[in-house]
Amino acid sequence: MRKFTDDTLLVATHNAGKLAEIADLIQPFGVQVIGAAEKGLSEPEEIEATFVGNARIKAHSAAKASGLPALSDDSGIEILPLNGAPGVYTADWAETETGRDFTMAMEKAHDLLLKNGAPQPWKARFCCTLVLAWPDGHDEVFPGTVDGEFVWPMRGELGHGYDPIFQPDGHSLTFAEMDAEAKNTISHRARAFEKLVGGCFA
Ligand code: IMP
Repeated sequence: MRKFTDDTLLVATHNAGKLAEIADLIQPFGVQVIGAAEKGLSEPEEIEATFVGNARIKAHSAAKASGLPALSDDSGIEILPLNGAPGVYTADWAETETGRDFTMAMEKAHDLLLKNGAPQPWKARFCCTLVLAWPDGHDEVFPGTVDGEFVWPMRGELGHGYDPIFQPDGHSLTFAEMDAEAKNTISHRARAFEKLVGGCFA
């Protein structure tokens, strides 16, 4: 496993919510974090059918373009009664002509669950794959998941994306009702991050 020895890490995302979460998680290691937008990097097309495939595309293109080690996150929610949808298409379900609308995406998932007559509880899982890639083409891969339920109606104002409909197992709050610190100790991203830290930062 290759260690991270630089002082700056490029986070290969244009998603402000993800960038803030990753910056929070990396903060104890004294590494400077820069976002892809700050570096003027364009967003590559995510053409793979897996989280790891898309995470690799993002990390390698950012590392190559910037000359810095780059960390990408490909993540999404799998709703079990919908056969794992939206999965790698989680962001796509929110696309509109005027930007992303996550309320619409969550309503779409809820409509499908009702249409399919899926019995409750609606089990769901957030998945995250982190890829740390270096400009020379080397990479390390770290997956993390958190199991829970798709709940309705949406609850909470915090967080981002699909947080208002996800209640992790063993908790009575949705991710959008938890503060960042609470979410960051149990989330799919935190679990992948723990492996990244153990592998590359320890
Ligand atoms: P991508 O990884 O950029 O393709 O997009 C992942 C999608 O999953 C985005 O639409 C996010 O909003 C959603 N997502 C990923 N992680 C979380 C999370 O922690 N909370 C809520 N939504 C998430």
